[in-house]
Amino acid sequence: MTQAILTLNAGSSSLKFQAFAVDDLSVLLAGKVTGIGGDAKLALSVPEDAAPAQPMGGDHHAALAAVLDCIDRHDDDWQVTAIAHRIVHGGTSFAAPVAIDDDVMAALAELVPLAPLHQPHNLEAVEASRALLPDALDIACFDTGFHAGQDPLFTTMPLPQRLRDEGFRRYGFHGISYEWIARRLRADHPGIARGRVVAAHLGNGASMCAMVGGQSVDTSMGMTALDGLPMGTRCGAIDPGAVTMLMRRGMDAEAIDHVLYHESGLKGLSGLTNDVAALIQSNDRQAQFALDVFALRIAQFAGRMAVSMGGLDALVFTAGIGENAASVRDAVVARLSFLPAFQVLVIPTDEERMMAIHVKELMAGGGACAD
Ligand code: ADP
Repeated sequence: MTQAILTLNAGSSSLKFQAFAVDDLSVLLAGKVTGIGGDAKLALSVPEDAAPAQPMGGDHHAALAAVLDCIDRHDDDWQVTAIAHRIVHGGTSFAAPVAIDDDVMAALAELVPLAPLHQPHNLEAVEASRALLPDALDIACFDTGFHAGQDPLFTTMPLPQRLRDEGFRRYGFHGISYEWIARRLRADHPGIARGRVVAAHLGNGASMCAMVGGQSVDTSMGMTALDGLPMGTRCGAIDPGAVTMLMRRGMDAEAIDHVLYHESGLKGLSGLTNDVAALIQSNDRQAQFALDVFALRIAQFAGRMAVSMGGLDALVFTAGIGENAASVRDAVVARLSFLPAFQVLVIPTDEERMMAIHVKELMAGGGACAD
């Protein structure tokens, strides 16, 4: 029998999953359920000769049931003994990965207002997993965790004390990805790992992290996953006065969230799409303009982070855009060419493996990942 760790990353309409063998952390199975809540389909990316996407219906519970069915059908001897859940927000209470019980679930539910578009779906997947695999260990891995040690100088928002007492502060996200990058740097580029590094996680969600000696000191994302860089469809940092203006026009929080999370960013700027590969291919002037704004803002944040760190030794690009869009990387680096020499690296992210490593160490009783 092969013991397996299943990693889950649940979005509003998707559930990404990977199954790892506990022994050697080889990938047994990987894939994604898309279209949850509508025309849901499960597709495998590992093994590569996978069958076409299988249509299915239902919610996250049904999606996870389909994933488990897929695991069962593939090999009767795989036993999922632990599930790693990607949880977007750990607030101030959670940094290191933690086993999920009723108390932890209640605490995570209280954080929903800080990540209203992500946290509820993350927790739906946990509920589904606890119902469908009651004997397995559920572990929460937090996108905020890697940033938990930041100095208050960097995390404090200039707001009245009473709001700061309620948790109004900067948290930062994509921490599992940055932790993986820090780990890869330690293994492959130890000299750089000890220095001042800006990592740019550029996917549909996009953020940047300043790391000194592998520790997060500054991030572009703030209290919610809306701050910082313009993203695929999210606006990133804008004047908060623009939000109150929309409210005065009679828009409620949900309608404003929709504009800022789903209609803005590269999609809003280009008027076309959030897909950077398509924007690069396009001859449309607005497509190029959107990419120009994106690269400018990435470079501006890198400049800010050089200030936060007192210099810059390396800039690391990761995630779909960072790993694949050389023209975006080149445009960013060109804007930073006035700085003293720094290294530019591309390191593929692997948030699933990072979560599996954490779970394996917790299962071994080793606590949070020490490496
Ligand atoms: P998510 O945050 O959804 O995980 P990804 O990390 O997969 O996102 O990144 C998706 C983005 O990466 C999309 O904008 C996509 O166009 C872009 N991308 C992927 N491959 C390429 C490529 N070869 N060239 C340019 N952009 C790419």
